[in-house]
Amino acid sequence: MKKRRLGVHTSIAGGVHLSIERAKELGCNTVQIFSHNPRQWLVRGIPSDSILQFKELQKSYDINPVFIHTSYLINLAASDKGILERSIELLIQEMDIADLLDADYVVLHTGSASQDSEEVGRKRAIEALKRIARKKEWRAKLLLENTAGERGDISSHIKDIAEIIDRTGSPPIGGVVIDTCHAFAAGYDITDEYGLSAFVKEIGTYIGLDNVKLIHLNDSKKGHSSHVDRHEHIGHGGIGREGLRRFINHPAFKNIPLILETPKKSEDDDPRNLKIVRNLL
Ligand SMILES: [Zn+2]
Ligand SMILES: [Zn+2]
Repeated sequence: MKKRRLGVHTSIAGGVHLSIERAKELGCNTVQIFSHNPRQWLVRGIPSDSILQFKELQKSYDINPVFIHTSYLINLAASDKGILERSIELLIQEMDIADLLDADYVVLHTGSASQDSEEVGRKRAIEALKRIARKKEWRAKLLLENTAGERGDISSHIKDIAEIIDRTGSPPIGGVVIDTCHAFAAGYDITDEYGLSAFVKEIGTYIGLDNVKLIHLNDSKKGHSSHVDRHEHIGHGGIGREGLRRFINHPAFKNIPLILETPKKSEDDDPRNLKIVRNLL
């Protein structure tokens, strides 16, 4: 049996290649990173020796797939023309960096419609994605993540993500990321068997289960249908240990890589959460 791919979102402080060393130290065999400061528009070039080391370490440690989480500033549904244009530019840069690093996937929160209706916001995002697709082709694939359903959010429901994918076409979209915290906050009660199988069925019907390429495994600080995106340590939130155990071992998800984006307040948060997940598998 192939070993389950399990990792955490890892810091690139000191150089992008150090994220691989950190993942290795934690005993991970997959990794997610930001390729630059996710709260700044400016992207500084990554030194070529750091890129080389990143690729070498990633291969020799067998850490894959490599996921790059895009900047929080990107909003493909933005009503502000300036922000929309900068978002498109930044997403293109993110895809370029992914190819430089030989990363497999780029994870995107598609956007927020601001004061407009979600429908209008989704249309803008679809147009933006089409424009990006016309720019060029990348080896890395774009993954759309389900979001928590905060105000204006255009991608918190499976049907909405399916609409974006269907109307954009691929490439560049290569599938979806399912975030457990976001699903729960957005209104999917994945804590019991019935709710989970309804959720799986919906993904299967609208998106296709083979298009799920990654699970963001997070517990939720806030309650079911809270529409608040606040991650919690594994087993300490609204989904709980049993809910997460059932989720990651569900036949539909049991071979999908897992990345934790749980809080990091102290050095032992990641090792502790990883240990719990290894016991749940
Ligand atoms: Zn996530
Ligand atoms: Zn989140």
